[in-house]
Amino acid sequence: MIEKIHWLGHDTFKIEGEMVIYTDPYQIKQQDVANIILITHEHYDHCSPADVQKLLSKETIVVAPTDCASKLGGKVRTVKVGDSFSIEGKVQIEAVPAYNVNKNFHPKKNGWVGYVITIQGVRIYLAGDTDRIPEMKNLGKIDIALLPVSGTYVMTAREAAEAALQDIKPTIAVPMHYGSIVGSSKDAEEFRRLLEGKVQVVIKG
Ligand code: ZN
Ligand code: ZN
Repeated sequence: MIEKIHWLGHDTFKIEGEMVIYTDPYQIKQQDVANIILITHEHYDHCSPADVQKLLSKETIVVAPTDCASKLGGKVRTVKVGDSFSIEGKVQIEAVPAYNVNKNFHPKKNGWVGYVITIQGVRIYLAGDTDRIPEMKNLGKIDIALLPVSGTYVMTAREAAEAALQDIKPTIAVPMHYGSIVGSSKDAEEFRRLLEGKVQVVIKG
């Protein structure tokens, strides 16, 4: 599964399979069509109407919290924390909490989300813009965790490494949220170094 997950920068991933899934599409350069687009929250670098537009077909299912959905218009499935649903029996989506605990960019009360995406039994956790939060202990088995590492608005590389090691315990962790708005590949490297010999880290891109 890990080789089917492509990082297109920031929090944008393309997950290939029976259904093509994009997460938080931002600065999309390639021509493509998504079956499912998952959006974590309404910040412009995550909820980008122009980028969503580039990936739409008539059948595309866009999933987003209400405040982002209102920016996008059209047919959007709104989600709140705790929602869980299947898309055509092929992909299971759970919306999980994502918020800050030591800064105010992503207040818990906004109800913004991360996602656990289950494809053929493989559980992928897209953390969204979040700090290390207690709910990370209760995600169930996670095979692949996509975690922000830039600091400033989200976890630092060290906080993300601690969350991976102590709370999420994924088989593979992939750093994200660096290289465009905030953070650099140094953060991704530090994340990998901190988890060396403990959790396999795959740096994409
Ligand atoms: Zn944000
Ligand atoms: Zn962000």
